Amino acid sequence: MMKTVLTFGLVGLILWPVGFFFGGRVIAVGFIVSTLATLCTTVYLHRYATHEAMWLHSGVKSIFKFFLWITTGVDIAQWVAVHRKHHSKSDDEGDPHSPYVEGFWQIQLFNVYYYVRAARDRQMVKKFAPDILNAQTWTDKHVPGWTGPLLGTVILCLVFGLWFGWVPGLKFGLTVAVLHVFFYVFVLLPLVNGLCHSPHWFGYQRYVGRKQSDTVFNDWFVALLTCGEGNHHNHHYSPKSAQLGHKWWEVDLGWYLIRLLEELRLAAQVHRPEVTA
Ligand SMILES: [Zn+2]
Ligand SMILES: [Zn+2]
Repeated sequence: MMKTVLTFGLVGLILWPVGFFFGGRVIAVGFIVSTLATLCTTVYLHRYATHEAMWLHSGVKSIFKFFLWITTGVDIAQWVAVHRKHHSKSDDEGDPHSPYVEGFWQIQLFNVYYYVRAARDRQMVKKFAPDILNAQTWTDKHVPGWTGPLLGTVILCLVFGLWFGWVPGLKFGLTVAVLHVFFYVFVLLPLVNGLCHSPHWFGYQRYVGRKQSDTVFNDWFVALLTCGEGNHHNHHYSPKSAQLGHKWWEVDLGWYLIRLLEELRLAAQVHRPEVTA
């Protein structure tokens, strides 16, 4: 219980003065931008690129890649490699970001440090993501990642500048950008890598007897915040599945989007869970 209360209490404590000085609206918009980034991360980067859980139409892939670029600037090969290594070691020595190895607060607060430390290892990226490296386009290789978030911030400032006037719009756009970084880097990703990999108040398990999922927990509230990623125990049990919520009440926004794309024939060969107990 302490982990859940302290984690969300800390987030509330940081957001409280922001809400006091800038208003709740800027926090809501920052969270919406982070949700867009999380949706692209879970559907494209995680379920599609890392686990090959489906086929996607090339136009859809380009849209995901563009939004991923302007909201995160992430290097796809590095992310895929770090995450595949995470599954291959899963809470054992060598897992790039395990609370069991490093300690809960280390991952919950400093997840980004452990990610960057692992992602810098070029040999590891070559070993775990050769398919992604081979499929890289000219832009993947030569356009620096930081240009994406820079463009994203300029777009935010332009949109809100046109809406509220240039000076308040610039202030609003920059605050939204900072809040998005806070949510995405310091709240949402650590909740999955930290809290869901640790026994806690809302955490529960469904499947037993498989080593790669018995240290991992589902959390309905984290799933709500992370477009379905909080159904993390289900995911470690059946990593190839595009569906992370295995019960109707396990919220999975990423899965709802994939189902829509499947109906529109923009996604195909969509993998379902091996078993739903
Ligand atoms: Zn995990
Ligand atoms: Zn995964």
